[in-house]
Amino acid sequence: MRIDIVTIFPGYFDTLELSLLGKAKDRGLLDVRVHDLRGFAHDRHRTVDDTPTGGGAGMVMKPEPWGAALDAILLSAQEAEPGVFDAEPDNGSQAPLIIFPSPAGEVFSQSMARELAAERHLVFGCGRYEGIDQRVVDEYSAGGRVRLISLGDYVLNGGEVATLAMIEAIGRLLPGVVGNPESLVEESHEDGLLEYPSFTKPATWRGRDVPPVLLSGNHAAIAAWRQQQRIDRTRAVRPELLPPED
Ligand code: SAM
Repeated sequence: MRIDIVTIFPGYFDTLELSLLGKAKDRGLLDVRVHDLRGFAHDRHRTVDDTPTGGGAGMVMKPEPWGAALDAILLSAQEAEPGVFDAEPDNGSQAPLIIFPSPAGEVFSQSMARELAAERHLVFGCGRYEGIDQRVVDEYSAGGRVRLISLGDYVLNGGEVATLAMIEAIGRLLPGVVGNPESLVEESHEDGLLEYPSFTKPATWRGRDVPPVLLSGNHAAIAAWRQQQRIDRTRAVRPELLPPED
């Protein structure tokens, strides 16, 4: 998968060199390209923000540098794979999907991560200040391949942390990124329930024992215990995830 990121803080993405995603990059499973938005601002001060039209607090990201950055990325995608822009957006187009992290977007989830992991090319546009001039979103939405996605119902200072979280959730679903694909199947949110609690050795630590069933060697009993733990945990912490009872 190719991922382009546009940001005024490229350094945030140095962490993508670490751990499983770093290895995935080294192995060519992930092609991540980070672009400094200021490189697309052509005045002497490389200005990317201006005062809000109509008044109000804060600053808004100017449309011109965003237009230049996104056009350059889309052009390079088209040059690399001329066929990908051919189909209509709702007809299997694999043109890049542009994601603007935004607290005003649809809320990110594990099922959305799975959906996005099927894309060939994601472009993340990281907002700052009061956000990006709306005309940028409208301009690229005209092609139909834009989504506004929120990490949750709270406000961050910028889209970088949200982008990192999404890339990690999406990247670990790509074939070959996580060594044992079975470990992905049983996780929290994969089938609507939270995961059961995990234990390792020693069997007793500070007077706390591992649940005896896990030492029994009885696989059916272990599976039943884990499933009940998932239901109990979900009911206690996230009851809204459980199917409605008749
Ligand atoms: N004025 C905006 C509003 O109230 O919707 C918030 C702007 S926020 C300070 C600056 C940037 O942080 C946003 O453009 C977005 O890129 C990012 N951001 C903030 N909260 C976010 C969230 N919950 N999910 C995803 N991105 C977020």
